[in-house]
Amino acid sequence: MIMAPIPARNSSTAPQPNGQPQPTKLPVASQRVEGPLTDVWTLFNQYTAKYKAINLGQGFMGFPAPQFVKDAGSAAAQVESCMQYAPPRGVPALRDELAKNYSQFLDRPVDPNTNIVVAAGGNEALLSVLAAFLDPGDEAVMMEPAFDQYFANLKLLNAVPKYVPLRVRPGIDATQNVISASDWVLDIDELRAAITPRTKVLIINTPHNPIGKVFTYDELQQIGQVAQEHNLVILSDEVYDRLTYDGHTHHSIATLPGMWNRTVIACSAGKAFGVTGWRIGWMIGAEHLILPCLRAHTRLIFTVNSPMQLAIANAFKAAHKNDFFNTQRQEYWERRHHLCQSLDAVGLPYTIPDGSYFILANTGKIKIPADFEFPLEVSSQGRCYEMCYFFTKEIGVTGIPPSEFYSDEHAQLADNYIRLAFCKPLELLDQVGERLVRLKQYM
Ligand code: PMP
Repeated sequence: MIMAPIPARNSSTAPQPNGQPQPTKLPVASQRVEGPLTDVWTLFNQYTAKYKAINLGQGFMGFPAPQFVKDAGSAAAQVESCMQYAPPRGVPALRDELAKNYSQFLDRPVDPNTNIVVAAGGNEALLSVLAAFLDPGDEAVMMEPAFDQYFANLKLLNAVPKYVPLRVRPGIDATQNVISASDWVLDIDELRAAITPRTKVLIINTPHNPIGKVFTYDELQQIGQVAQEHNLVILSDEVYDRLTYDGHTHHSIATLPGMWNRTVIACSAGKAFGVTGWRIGWMIGAEHLILPCLRAHTRLIFTVNSPMQLAIANAFKAAHKNDFFNTQRQEYWERRHHLCQSLDAVGLPYTIPDGSYFILANTGKIKIPADFEFPLEVSSQGRCYEMCYFFTKEIGVTGIPPSEFYSDEHAQLADNYIRLAFCKPLELLDQVGERLVRLKQYM
């Protein structure tokens, strides 16, 4: 994640009493929110519009939300009790539904009154958990590539990120071959080595964005062992918990022996029901962990909007009757299949995701012509950005540079990758296939 600093903002031309425009100082933002003037999502959205590219960059759904979910939303918007503040823990109807769902999934009793807090999306759940357990200077360790909000949230808290990259198993050539998400592995000794006496939190993300890795029980056991040795809180980002493919089972690390007492799970209704704009998520964990999260959440945002909480509660009820989650999984499988077929057709290798809705394509084979020109804001960020810009401008398909998901120290590991989101309609994914054919002349 290479960040160009915001230029110093110390001049304006406000007229002065003598009639001469004189520089006046403008307030300067805190370092906690420093970063490039244009973030990567905005930058590539702008290029997408400029070059009329198909946008597989940002992970929002490109198809309509399920009708029964929208109906639940419309109905909830009329319920009088939803017109006022919800309790900070969340609307009881949603907590009851979540308790039922997660008692089953986690195979343990989950109490709606003590084990759950409803958040404003997965993002707020993440921030609340981190705020609950990290003092300034404390460290959180995570595996790269990592969802970019982790870094940003830690910075906001004056906490320190520590990174351990997931790497493709030795002996596998990802530039030439289609590989499995399970070929990306963690070196557990590297994880151990990254931990210091200041480390308080270990962040894990399964199913993983952007690799699509679904951590196995054994992998989680090893990671849990490290957390146990160092008395770490585990923040388990499971926002894609309902999107796994080909029989891969999502395990929550909270279900492993001893882990319930140190894990907070963060989830997202946006991902579960295809309504990322509703901003509903939740935290689940043991009471002694959830209480500090509730305090952080209450101070950060107080409470989440009431109608959409009720709507998600009713959507869960309906989803069990209409087998929504299985249908949705099948639909995503088909989208994944269409994009994989398109990549196969041009011979562009990629990682087959076992979960989530992203594909990391490997661009190692592609040779960008020497005279191809890049704007400075792109060339200053390295090959990964250049390749994504080339894809947008020349091929007409936008992806996201995964260097965004790495620390500066390890950003070069992303050099040969582009992240493509397949939460898009099949017709659009097929058009992507037609456009990708143009890549052949550059391979
Ligand atoms: N974690 C991961 C890994 C994600 O990819 C996302 C969304 N892109 C989130 C958390 C945040 O989810 P939400 O949209 O519910 O805030």
